[in-house]
Amino acid sequence: MASNPNDPNYAGRRKDWSHVEFETRAIRAGQDPDAEYASVIVPIYQTSTFRHQSLGKFNGYEYSRTDNPTRSALQASLASLEGGAWSLAFASGTAATREIATLLNPGDHILMSTDAYGGTFRLFDSVFGRFGVETSITDLSDMDAARAAVRPNTKLIWAETPTNPAMRITDIAAMAELAHGIGALLVVDNTFATPYLQQPLSLGADLVLHSTTKYLGGHSDVIGGAVVGNDPELYTQLKDLQNGAGAVPGPFDCWLTLRGIKTLPIRMDRHSENGMRIAEFLDAHEAIETVFYPGLPSHPGHELAAKQMRSFGGMVSFAMKGGREAAKKVVEGTSIFLLAESLGGVESLIEHPDTMTHASVSGTEQAVDGAVIRMSVGIENADDLIADLTQALAGI
Ligand SMILES: *Cc1c(COP(=O)(O)O)cnc(C)c1O
Repeated sequence: MASNPNDPNYAGRRKDWSHVEFETRAIRAGQDPDAEYASVIVPIYQTSTFRHQSLGKFNGYEYSRTDNPTRSALQASLASLEGGAWSLAFASGTAATREIATLLNPGDHILMSTDAYGGTFRLFDSVFGRFGVETSITDLSDMDAARAAVRPNTKLIWAETPTNPAMRITDIAAMAELAHGIGALLVVDNTFATPYLQQPLSLGADLVLHSTTKYLGGHSDVIGGAVVGNDPELYTQLKDLQNGAGAVPGPFDCWLTLRGIKTLPIRMDRHSENGMRIAEFLDAHEAIETVFYPGLPSHPGHELAAKQMRSFGGMVSFAMKGGREAAKKVVEGTSIFLLAESLGGVESLIEHPDTMTHASVSGTEQAVDGAVIRMSVGIENADDLIADLTQALAGI
């Protein structure tokens, strides 16, 4: 972590909120009234540059690619919520992913979850592959498979948990042990769970990755990403890479994300409540073959999820008995659930992975079955959502 008090990320610049609970930190950590006018809301510092008082003397900020006060506030908030020493905010989740991959060298190997975010695999395989970084995939919910899949040159294990759309659960503590035993870093993509439901750093992960576009922002109105960690050396490396490559978020985007974060705990409670109700409804429906939701006792990852997550979140997938045709009718037949990609906003979304979010892997080994539908269950009234699904499923 930055030890120079001139560095905006220097912990001593901010009030320490580590003694209070998550819900309080979501509102106050990094979001204290500003020093100048005591505005209760963090200002949007819409400036590219900062005046120097004299040569070599400046108030922590020089140029907004390097650092910006609104971005620093967001970083302090995210670090506090994930229980990390530091955080770096990026222009998107994918930009944050790329920065982590640039820690590697030609000849290094990345092992990642089978159904991790499609864009992550595409980036590692088709971009970093050209620079000599190998990527292979395996089911990281199976520790024996993971142990068999690591190689002498594995430098990064990239686990997403829960995954999407199968909602597979990785044992974070066991995976951290495996990674550290072979000198690799464990990165956990915590986008689906959020720090409210799951704390990967406390379970031994080295870095947490977020697409803040999703639940952290929470209102489908901003694209952003973040990395959170504890190791000061990784901070310095990633900070230098970010400053050198420039994928930074704008101050307004950081501000929107900060605003979203304040309600994260109550939103996640409702997402989980509605997710559970809808999973149970679907589980009892005769047109449906399988429901993928870690909150259901029949889900293979249920016990593990109950151990490492506070609750089970709002992502629910299911496979139709009638296959692709039936799935198509359902996703086109809802009215409250909007047919759209992405997830994590207050509004409910429904989509067909094989033709939408996972189209880039369609026809490959990782292709998603055409019978599968994925939903991001929002925070609307659960009865309304169930009525909407009931009518969309009628006659199938
Ligand atoms: C959306 C998403 C990403 C990519 O984030 P962007 O903000 O879209 O670049 C990465 N991982 C997961 C799990 C995601 O859902």
